[in-house]
Amino acid sequence: MTEPTKTTCPYCGVGCGVLVMPQADGTVSVRGDPDHPANLGRLCSKGAALGETLGTAGRLLHPRIADERVSWDQALDRVAGRLGEIVAEHGPEAVAFYVSGQLLTEDYYVANKLMKGFIGGANIDTNSRLCMASSVAGYKRALGADTVPCDYADLEAAELIVLVGSNTAWCHPVVYQRIKQAKQANPDRQIVVIDPRRTASCEIADLHLPIAPGTDTVLFNGLLNWLRREDALDWTFLESHTEGFAAAFTTARESAGSVPRVAAACGLPESELADFYRRFARTERVVTLYSQGVNQWSFGTDKVNAIINCHLATGRIGRPGMGPFSITGQPNAMGGREVGGLANQLAAHMDFAPEDIDRVGRFWQADGIARAPGLKAVEMLRAVEEGKIKAIWVMATNPAVSMPDADRVRAALRACELVICSDLFADTDTARCADVLLPAAGWGEKEGTVTNSERCISRQRAFLDPPGEARPDWWILAEVARRMGFADAFPYRSAAEVFREHAALSAFENDGRRDFDIGALADLAATDYDRLTPVQWPLPAGREAARLFADGRFYTPNGKARFIAITPRPPATAPDDDYPLVLNTGRIRDQWHTMTRTGLAPRLSSHIAEPFVQIRPVDAAAHGLSRGGIAELTSRWGRMLARIEVDADQRPGSVFVPMHWSDTLARQARADALVNPVTDPVSGQPEFKHTPVQVSLF
Ligand code: SF4
Repeated sequence: MTEPTKTTCPYCGVGCGVLVMPQADGTVSVRGDPDHPANLGRLCSKGAALGETLGTAGRLLHPRIADERVSWDQALDRVAGRLGEIVAEHGPEAVAFYVSGQLLTEDYYVANKLMKGFIGGANIDTNSRLCMASSVAGYKRALGADTVPCDYADLEAAELIVLVGSNTAWCHPVVYQRIKQAKQANPDRQIVVIDPRRTASCEIADLHLPIAPGTDTVLFNGLLNWLRREDALDWTFLESHTEGFAAAFTTARESAGSVPRVAAACGLPESELADFYRRFARTERVVTLYSQGVNQWSFGTDKVNAIINCHLATGRIGRPGMGPFSITGQPNAMGGREVGGLANQLAAHMDFAPEDIDRVGRFWQADGIARAPGLKAVEMLRAVEEGKIKAIWVMATNPAVSMPDADRVRAALRACELVICSDLFADTDTARCADVLLPAAGWGEKEGTVTNSERCISRQRAFLDPPGEARPDWWILAEVARRMGFADAFPYRSAAEVFREHAALSAFENDGRRDFDIGALADLAATDYDRLTPVQWPLPAGREAARLFADGRFYTPNGKARFIAITPRPPATAPDDDYPLVLNTGRIRDQWHTMTRTGLAPRLSSHIAEPFVQIRPVDAAAHGLSRGGIAELTSRWGRMLARIEVDADQRPGSVFVPMHWSDTLARQARADALVNPVTDPVSGQPEFKHTPVQVSLF
């Protein structure tokens, strides 16, 4: 090989392009792709260490049934046979797929087609439910479709960037590098960070608002009220392109009120709150960049809409350097949404409306297509516990670690009649619950596409042979589908064939009514898949990608964006004498999810080597904790152990723990065992950011 392989990083939703070159000594060099629009040659520590995570260490190399090595034929026959029997006896709702934003779009497409089109149920949901579901729901409520209005270049065009609930420096490092360089190039560019913790992202902030957890809706309602009072609204845009302002404004004014009232509710100094409001009101080009600190709440969708309301009121959307901008956690959370990876969506951004169901059914020639949404992730695992779901196929994710109330989830999986697990690695907390293990090909071993946070579709390419008998997920799914009697519908011989079908579906019977469709992908279907360069959707046939909403038309039936009246709600469970501190979970700079891959690189583990709990000095003293000791954290749902870090950057009354460690890596180390499984009633996203806990010396 003389030319590097152009592919993309498999970790976060920034979606950086990388150039990979296998070396003569067996190692693999990895560097940033200067031509990729997401990163323009940059990489973070995780992306730069990708070459150190390859190899066969810990890999699942062969199919296994009940811990015995079997052939692919035996494994596939067992999976197809048992799924078929359970569907025949109990109906399609008795089986479920729990998939992942780590899957490629082609894998996602085949999984969704098999479940919704041919098994005939809709119990397929993704770990993106834990990540971006509130943004999806918020965009749909306000804009009429799940579309992200901004791209990364808007960050460089903005005069004010508001980071809300996002430690961008650690969780989306290359986006942070772009913001930092833009700030260095123009020190007048303002950065405001809204986050209960003082994080690494505050290094470049002009203003940090250490907001009381869960009060963002009050803060943004207060901003809407301020903008109206200061006559900072864009009335022309408001009257021509939106609806519902009066109700949203009245609710905002009554629920938030004056600056002193908002400041008291949010636990902020009045002067600093007013400073933020003034900056927002006076600055034309504003991007509000947000992530899990907004989404992961039992009212995350309301938080999203409270932010969008302020952008609609000022007409700051659809123009360069302006807009609400959600950045996804995972590399392909967006691609999964495009092909219907969520239980409440069909393929190609279609919903469970009768005309959409019929349209997809005609394209797939699937008479038995599911006609109603399935169970969202937390509900799905609850149905496993209750025995309503008798078989679950987990692909490329580790719910025994990452789901809220993780002990209960693990117990439910252990008791389930049939657990199938497709994964790269042989020994994960979830694999330990599986009856059938299927070895999946991983990064660098398979072909496909991903869509990043700015809606940019990029290729992932193979440069290694899969180890042992590992196979791409789309192949495994198609083989099971054939054995279940659906051979005609799953004839794929390559990822390219799957992609072309996905693209063709997006254009099928598209009469222009749904012009946000990725219908434009029909054009891409005719191009050489191997040479597919990064491209943003929607890409209307025959023309270049246009800035979304530049013409003031939205994807609602009447073309107007909708204000949503937001009545602030408290978190589901308040701290009390038994559980007096508020637990916030999140990521650290150098690890990814449950560490199955990043844990293989020693230099990544050298950043932070073990699970920890960060606690404010005053709280540490009150609970008899000192730096370096081991703390026991308990909640109403579970327990974990962590090293104590006393840190003045924590907000009083709050503690932070990373979500990465599992019981296969350390004893009692799963943060999500503590987390309340309550979910947002609109989005189904769990409240990872607010669980009352007790912390004591172990
Ligand atoms: Fe880029 Fe994210 Fe990968 Fe880092 S982890 S290289 S920011 S895609």
